[in-house]
Amino acid sequence: MSLDLDLRDRVRDVPDFPTAGILFKDLMPLIADREYFAETIRQLAAWAKPREPDLILGAEARGFIFGGALAYELGAGFVPARKPGKLPRETVEATYALEYGTDSLQMHRDAVTPGARVIVLDDVLATGGTARAKIELVEGLGGVVVGALFVIELTFLGGRERLAGYDVHSLISY
Ligand code: AMP
Repeated sequence: MSLDLDLRDRVRDVPDFPTAGILFKDLMPLIADREYFAETIRQLAAWAKPREPDLILGAEARGFIFGGALAYELGAGFVPARKPGKLPRETVEATYALEYGTDSLQMHRDAVTPGARVIVLDDVLATGGTARAKIELVEGLGGVVVGALFVIELTFLGGRERLAGYDVHSLISY
């Protein structure tokens, strides 16, 4: 595998999606390309491994794709955060503001055991609201957030400041 792949080459800008004024960063071309996808997971794992996570937490839907692959690569478990009503057993919930709207995420109440080391993962760090909600859920269950990891960071939205005090890393910044 080439080590000089520029992940940006497989990120597609989609103007005005899902609403006017949003420049959507579409990672589907990167996921569909076996070399770029493997390189992305390799880079995520290189940062995550020394933090010795027990669990990777990803939210639907792109967080599942990167999170499942990363957890497998690390030998960690994967836990999902889902939109309300999707998880079958008892849940905990956090509500947050998005770059475009508000939303809620749920996790199973028994998804994180007290003291578990958790990395919260997402494809894009925008305002940081989603990541904060996931951190709130993990800590509410007694887990320890040992990192907040992203493929893309939109620095102009200041998400990193909302995650002050946490170990934050992204592979690509715009
Ligand atoms: P935020 O909570 O504002 O940090 O938003 C992060 C979540 O919204 C991530 O799950 C992203 O998938 C999605 N998102 C927000 N802004 C964008 C964008 N410009 N391009 C792609 N995804 C985005």
